[in-house]
Amino acid sequence: MSAELILETEGLTKEFAGFTAVGGVDLRVKRGSIHALIGPNGAGKTTCFNLLTKFLAPTSGRIVFKGADITALAPADVAQLGLVRSFQISAVFPHMTVLENVRIALQRRLRGASMDFWRSRSVLDAYNDKALALIADVGLADYAQWNAVELPYGRKRALEIATTLALDPEMLLLDEPTAGMGHEDIARIAELIKRVASTRTVLMVEHNLSVVADLSDTITVLTRGRVLAEGNYETVSNNPDVREAYMGV
Ligand code: ADP
Repeated sequence: MSAELILETEGLTKEFAGFTAVGGVDLRVKRGSIHALIGPNGAGKTTCFNLLTKFLAPTSGRIVFKGADITALAPADVAQLGLVRSFQISAVFPHMTVLENVRIALQRRLRGASMDFWRSRSVLDAYNDKALALIADVGLADYAQWNAVELPYGRKRALEIATTLALDPEMLLLDEPTAGMGHEDIARIAELIKRVASTRTVLMVEHNLSVVADLSDTITVLTRGRVLAEGNYETVSNNPDVREAYMGV
């Protein structure tokens, strides 16, 4: 695996009762890049994400992260290595504040110190400071004391990203980060993803093609579980196979 790649799959395959949801996918994600996985419904994007984070075991194929074969690792071990998926909103505790949610995520990373958290004022303050910095980073400074459940939709997604960043991943998997958002929220999340990617690698499934065009260094187009095309937005969007299969033109 070349040093500039952070994640690579070889022949990644997942069959469900004989149906091939993902069939022989070779994915190469460059360190520090924003890489988008796109394709029509049923193309295998979610299954790919589930394979990468080990929520599903592949039928065959290999996954290599930072040079290590992670194919047989458990999800928690993959996260520990620095490959973390931003969870859907349900993973955020709805009746806790933004600050509490981020603090808990920080605690989770620094698990060993978690009991001190309840005992020592100085440890508590240190967590608070870190959490507040992260909250400001994702544009939620004005919402720190809001309960997660009360946040507008776009801000909830920002909180989800903050709780993921609290785990200090080297690589984030973002599952449709702008789904269901209006223009303003989309612009804000796009800025946030750019900022995140200045120090980390991002792999995202994203349906909004203008977001994909704006953010992505590399795009992999899947159809029927296979890679149809790969390249930058211009290359991919001018590919006749992609236009036919994905964009319907
Ligand atoms: P996408 O995220 O691109 O819409 P998915 O990865 O969700 O695609 O699904 C790819 C294909 O695999 C679909 O045809 C879907 O019906 C099928 N599939 C996904 N998960 C399962 C499962 N647990 N059992 C059977 N088929 C599945």
